[in-house]
Amino acid sequence: MAQQEPEVTPVMAKKRGSKPRAKGIGIMSPAKHGFEFGGPIGAAGITLGLPLACFLATFVCNDISGCPVPSVLHPSTLTLEKLKQEVGWPENGIWGLASYEVTGWLLGYYLLSLILQGILSGDEIEGVALRSGGRLKYKFNAFFSATLTVAIAVAGTVAQGPDFVLWTFIWDNYLQLLTASIGISFAIAFFVYFKSFTVKPGKPGYRELAAGGHTGNKIYDWFIGRELNPRIALPILGTIDIKVFCELRPGMLGWVLLDLAFVAHQYKTYGYVTDSIAIVTLFQSIYVFDALWMEPAILTTMDVTSDGFGFMLAFGDLVWVPFIYSLQAKYLAVYPLQLGLKGTLGVAIVQGIGYFTFRSANNQKNRFRTNPKDRRVSHLRYIETKSGSKLLVTGWWGMARHINYLGDWIMGWTYCLPTGIAGYVIQHVSDGKRVVQGEARGWGMVVTYFYIAYFAILLIHREMRDEEKCEQKYGDDWKEYQKKVRWRIVPYIY
Ligand code: NDP
Repeated sequence: MAQQEPEVTPVMAKKRGSKPRAKGIGIMSPAKHGFEFGGPIGAAGITLGLPLACFLATFVCNDISGCPVPSVLHPSTLTLEKLKQEVGWPENGIWGLASYEVTGWLLGYYLLSLILQGILSGDEIEGVALRSGGRLKYKFNAFFSATLTVAIAVAGTVAQGPDFVLWTFIWDNYLQLLTASIGISFAIAFFVYFKSFTVKPGKPGYRELAAGGHTGNKIYDWFIGRELNPRIALPILGTIDIKVFCELRPGMLGWVLLDLAFVAHQYKTYGYVTDSIAIVTLFQSIYVFDALWMEPAILTTMDVTSDGFGFMLAFGDLVWVPFIYSLQAKYLAVYPLQLGLKGTLGVAIVQGIGYFTFRSANNQKNRFRTNPKDRRVSHLRYIETKSGSKLLVTGWWGMARHINYLGDWIMGWTYCLPTGIAGYVIQHVSDGKRVVQGEARGWGMVVTYFYIAYFAILLIHREMRDEEKCEQKYGDDWKEYQKKVRWRIVPYIY
């Protein structure tokens, strides 16, 4: 793979009013800093633990014996043989977790994603200033690319119904798809790690190491990511920014495709689609397509401006997002809960509040940073910092320093609530299977509400990291800002 050429030109962002911040904003990636995520031990623990957690979630909540599997509720009767039967452990043992064929198809999906990025037209936008002073260019067409892929899948469904090959393939090979996705995330993490050693400081090319990614500890650096913006130049397809590609393409769309496969499976099994799975899939799809529509906004996120690209982001983007975030739809594919009109309306109201907060807050900051004269933000008050950046102190950003996280978290509830008091047992009866809640009622919530607990931890941790970054960047100005805007995420509470 060829090395990318330097791609720096004057600012020419020209996208839907959500271009990255204007010239003159402080240069990103400050000097080296210390360990995060518990250092090397934490990194090793997360690297081993998260893939295991994904397998655990797959096995413990299934369409063979229940959610959770019955033995979990009766630990005294638990034997390895019984557990293997209940979780659907592959007949050929550990080798059954993977399949060359499934891996091949998944790689084909990644290739399709790359091809669509390369051949579809897209706006070219510049990122924030690098330490070198230059700016990298990005081609954005993720929304169009994902819409096209989903349109093809919809056309296939119209032609073949719920038996459309994509949906049955996903359902039948879910475990092998998970294993292959984990494998791909490891492979990419190793690739970008070794590639990062070709970064030559001071040389043109606008390649640089991430501030927190070159501690010298191999495990930690591999995990957190050494290089800030690893890129590859592919024949015909052009330059691909590996981090931005992984953040917005195969994993995000994969999440929607998994959800749709679960909807198809529910319909195939029961002959109808419940309001619960429809609403979960709809809201999660809105979340994904909203992020793709606002694609340029990714350029000012911490992930792109400060974090290196290593195993943490590769795994998060390609495995955790699609497989863990879709667990509610997977649950509902087997247990077809009906919410009714009141339940559906209740969840829709929560979604409305969450989305309004999330989108308005993000838009307000984006508009303020890109066009402060915009009449929707021109009335807001701000403090002028020594770095040249302005910090809003009224409007959404005057309520809490990360009010946008609150909106995101509220939306998270609408993915979990439609699973109700979750849990089911599968009874094998003479005429097939019967799914009842029985003694599992409530216990399935460990799986279907996991997201909301995990997401709270992620956002609190992320807020602390961002706070640290801003303290370093703004010094006393940040202290003044903290005095004016007291709350971190939730006004009057936190
Ligand atoms: P944010 O959009 O929250 O931006 C934080 C940055 O904004 C700060 O570093 C600072 O940057 C600037 N800023 C802070 N305060 C102010 C202010 N008062 N006025 C103007 N600018 C300010 O960053 P994230 O990347 O964390 O989040 C983006 C979105 O992505 C969020 O809505 C979040 O919920 C979502 N998200 C979702 C995840 C998921 O898994 N679903 C994971 C992570 C994020 P500067 O240096 O420019 O001043």
